[in-house]
Amino acid sequence: MFSPEFSALGIAPELLAALYDLEYQHPSAIQEQSIPLLLEGHNILGTAQTGTGKTAAYAVPVLQRLQPRKDRRPQVLVLTPTRELAIQVAQAMESFARKLKCNILSVYGGSPIGPQLKRLSSGVDVVVGTPGRLIDHIKRGSLDLSSIEAIVLDEADEMLRMGFIDDVETILSEAPSGCQRALFSATMPPQIRRVASTYLGDAKHVQISSPTTTLDQIEQFHLLLHGGQKIEALKRLLEVEDINAAMVFVRTKDATTEIAAQLERAGFKAAALNGDLSQQMREQCVLRLKQGHIDIVVATDVAARGLDVERISHVFNFDIPFDTEAYIHRIGRTGRAGRTGRAILFVSPNERRLLRGIEQATKQQITLMPVPDEKQISTCRINAFIASLHKTLTTQDLGSMRAMVDEMATRDNIEMEDLAAALAWQLQQHNPLHPKLKSLDPPSPRPKTRPGGKERFSEPKGGAGGAAMNGYRISVGREQQITPRDIVGAFTNEAQLPIRSIGRIKIEAQSSYIELSSNLPARALEKLKKLQIRHNHIGLKPATAPSNKGAKEEFSPAKGKPRPEKKGEYKGGGKKWDKKDKYKK
Ligand code: ADP
Ligand code: MG
Repeated sequence: MFSPEFSALGIAPELLAALYDLEYQHPSAIQEQSIPLLLEGHNILGTAQTGTGKTAAYAVPVLQRLQPRKDRRPQVLVLTPTRELAIQVAQAMESFARKLKCNILSVYGGSPIGPQLKRLSSGVDVVVGTPGRLIDHIKRGSLDLSSIEAIVLDEADEMLRMGFIDDVETILSEAPSGCQRALFSATMPPQIRRVASTYLGDAKHVQISSPTTTLDQIEQFHLLLHGGQKIEALKRLLEVEDINAAMVFVRTKDATTEIAAQLERAGFKAAALNGDLSQQMREQCVLRLKQGHIDIVVATDVAARGLDVERISHVFNFDIPFDTEAYIHRIGRTGRAGRTGRAILFVSPNERRLLRGIEQATKQQITLMPVPDEKQISTCRINAFIASLHKTLTTQDLGSMRAMVDEMATRDNIEMEDLAAALAWQLQQHNPLHPKLKSLDPPSPRPKTRPGGKERFSEPKGGAGGAAMNGYRISVGREQQITPRDIVGAFTNEAQLPIRSIGRIKIEAQSSYIELSSNLPARALEKLKKLQIRHNHIGLKPATAPSNKGAKEEFSPAKGKPRPEKKGEYKGGGKKWDKKDKYKK
């Protein structure tokens, strides 16, 4: 009953049984290569794209190597960049470990520390967590690294991107020197290579240069629309596309709730997923999607990070993402686990430049598709109607209905066709089979002279590069899991600042320094003062620039900053992380 391919890798029967239950039939390439090496005790440096099955590649062997111990101190530590991922990895490990006696705990910032302390003191075997919270526990003495036998860094490049690299190094340097180490990353920027050579010197390299990247499993389309036509177009697409479950990406939190509500009113099972929801509500939303209680989740980028739900067949980019990286991340929510997916992007006339940028960077064509018209909707509804009738015919006992219809037809001398037609008419009244729909004419194909559209505030001349900037401090930082992307996202989306009015950003432990254009209107500043990021009031206050210490954590979204650009740095202005090797084919 077990997959012979998995058992050939040396996996123990309890774990094979769990993989079988999970319907893992064939190991993925990274699993095939990593599992035997990790089982033998080697260190591993693994490069593989998302969606290649890295979790099982490390989780299965480290679980198999767990020793039964009396003191129940943790033996395995898994570091993940986000709390969503920590939860997901812990859940995956739990599902692999179902037939083992083993305690798995996830720890992450933003959730109360009390229960975590309790669990840690009562004994756990595996701790999965974000670097910040792990450091917290180490400092409090609630997590003792001396018993650790294996450390895994999952999505190391994401941890670097989010400014966790120092925390990661602290943990690596404090772990016992003899413990097994595995580092997985989709890309290998220089900083990750340096960490790898310092802490995993003798690691075996496992590189999956996947000829079938996740993107190959995804058919990509775009529609050309005016902003005001998007919601109608979305509803029509949700009707005609063969959808199992869908993600709809929008730019702001408000848009998530507004669009989810509109879809619900139109009869779709939709919900909003955004950073305003508590962690528990977010998890619940994902669970409801997994279990099919809802079919459509309308989300912002941040809230959907790392989300892995196999049944997602479609990703709609309702608002075009800021950059290619976000685009790839969004559409990667479909095409999971070897399935195929469809990604549909809404493009307004002044966003065509962004579309071309995405096509160039991904080296993929995003095919133009028309908005479904009246005829298509009609055909689709009629087909669904016929299918539901067939289902009724084959599954229901229609005896009494038949007798009633017969009697009616004979008594009132009605043709059966007429009777059926009248019933059909009644049934379709609220969802007409021949709807009268407005035609959504595509905008003229000539690009506007001013791409990017109107911005609300005047910009400093020549962008931030030459303009006067004022320094501010906000009371959120790494410990609140804030990234430059969160700040830029909140300032541009929620407070509607033009991106070029944002200068340097420096994330520190509990606060961040940020530069803003000196000519922001007072009402913009008022808006910023009330802003929250990840549930934290940012408490914007004027400040002077911090010393240059730790300058590697500095970011600048404004174009043309006169300072050297390092690889892996946030460069802003629509072109952010240099990840070109990631998507090379
Ligand atoms: P990565 O960490 O590389 O992004 P994951 O470990 O999250 O990938 O796996 C992506 C998806 O593929 C998950 O839903 C996982 O359950 C599924 N998966 C992983 N390995 C297999 C396999 N061998 N067979 C079937 N599904 C798999
Ligand atoms: Mg992963």
